[in-house]
Amino acid sequence: MKVDVMIIGGGPGGYVAAIRAAQLGLTVALAERHERLGGTCTNVGCIPSKALLDSSERYHEAAKAFAGHGIRVAGLEVDWPAMRARKDKVVQITALGIDKLMEKNGITRLRGTARFLAPGRVAVAGAEGETVVESRHVVVATGSKPLDLPFCRLDKERIISSTEALALAELPRRLLVIGAGVIGLELGSVFARLGAKVEVLEALDRCLPGMDADLGKELERSLKKLGMAFHIGARVSQVENLGSEVRVQAQSAKGRDLDLRGDLCLVAIGRRPYTEGLELAAAGLDTDARGFIAVDGHNRTAVPQVWAIGDVVGGAMLAHKAEEEGVAVAERIAGQQPHLDHRLIPGVVYTWPEVAAVGDSEEELKRQGRAYKSGSFPFIALGRARAAGEKEGFVKILADAATDEILGVHMIGPRAADLIAEAVVAMEFRAAAEDLARSCHAHPTYAEAVKEAALAATGDRALHL
Ligand code: FAD
Ligand code: NAD
Repeated sequence: MKVDVMIIGGGPGGYVAAIRAAQLGLTVALAERHERLGGTCTNVGCIPSKALLDSSERYHEAAKAFAGHGIRVAGLEVDWPAMRARKDKVVQITALGIDKLMEKNGITRLRGTARFLAPGRVAVAGAEGETVVESRHVVVATGSKPLDLPFCRLDKERIISSTEALALAELPRRLLVIGAGVIGLELGSVFARLGAKVEVLEALDRCLPGMDADLGKELERSLKKLGMAFHIGARVSQVENLGSEVRVQAQSAKGRDLDLRGDLCLVAIGRRPYTEGLELAAAGLDTDARGFIAVDGHNRTAVPQVWAIGDVVGGAMLAHKAEEEGVAVAERIAGQQPHLDHRLIPGVVYTWPEVAAVGDSEEELKRQGRAYKSGSFPFIALGRARAAGEKEGFVKILADAATDEILGVHMIGPRAADLIAEAVVAMEFRAAAEDLARSCHAHPTYAEAVKEAALAATGDRALHL
């Protein structure tokens, strides 16, 4: 078979690159080794985790917040098999939707594992035999896998990754979580809301160490109210499956020995690039010391016809980052000159309150020695938030001290995942804090917190503080 573009991997990077290339009139084949398209995101990542986050938050609201709204609920209980089945249905429908998109765009779907024979020659081996594809361009979008602890492998029974945590037959009563990053806090809060005692061990000095420090501190306070316990600065030394329970040994930040027991231990310490079986060497390619495929600012590898996108090239391991790279690569193959600013890829944590950020954190600006000003506004001061009973969180805007250009927006609070879009658009247009401050925001909305924080950043001008 001959095509213009061969794409390896049907996750959000690969399938979106395929759609954009087809829209531009290129002939496209897409290889995926799993039966279902959608990759980590659709099958064992974004979509199932958000389905469980939404279901568990509804239960938690009904149990803890409805009474405050004057709603009495009797006989409330969790039907875990039904909640899990709903999650599976959401995943199935999403994956079927991607199949339809492939058909609609005339993309040739190849079921099987792809490997390089040469830079422009790829073999795809599946249940129906092997297909050899010759293509002008190859896009590698093979994604990532969960990282293991160096001293203990995931046994997938009691020592598990997010993949197993999303498909548990029974709810755990006691869950130990290693890593207070995105997965640890999202899935930790799912099971805490559903009644589990959740204890989180984090090696660094705070929750969400990759984000602005104020966000992690505020989220930790909030998750403690949910009943989650934290061992920040803990050094985990051993994780053992004892048969009927799991044991985690660690040293606390103060040097105290910790000996913790749980039904399960979720290891959420990051992900590693996945290139097994690809035979990159046949294309003249190699991985770097951490296993990533090295690319330039336009996702070109060292071999002219071969491109790589998404989790397998490192940077933010996010679905929307993979998608944007997929679009940009398809357009570049078609001769266009797209622009993608990696600094403006937002990061979101779907706990409640939600956490979202774009641009530089305060720590990053201090590291750069950049003069900046900061304005914050708490959600509690908004009529909309009080009406909803949402008392937690804030929006913080960082702007250049001299030019007023927005350099970073960091927020924790209700619907922060959606509110961050306004900040991304503003920063794409290199807006000043004054631009946001002068834009009319509907009242009463959560978005007013963004305007008020912008007013605060341009001087002491917040109107409701
Ligand atoms: P993947 O989605 O990993 O897809 C790669 C695909 O390539 C896979 O389907 C794999 O089977 C296939 N493949 C690999 N090798 C071969 C081969 N040789 N031949 C054929 N096929 C092959 N990101 C967000 O932005 N928002 C979220 O809310 C979010 N939640 C997450 C929750 C969890 C629990 C996890 C684990 C991740 C989450 N992520 C989230 C991250 C997101 O899932 C990834 O960043 C995204 O899926 C990366 O896309 P990708 O296309 O690079 O790779
Ligand atoms: P992460 O990088 O977000 O967090 C890992 C955490 O584990 C860090 O806080 C790190 O300091 C800690 N850690 C590392 N080694 C440790 C050790 N030995 N002991 C204790 N703590 C340790 O990674 P993750 O939560 O596993 O998520 C993996 C990837 O998936 C991330 O890149 C993330 O972007 C993506 N993801 C995104 C979303 C989202 O966008 N909402 C949701 C889930 C996952």
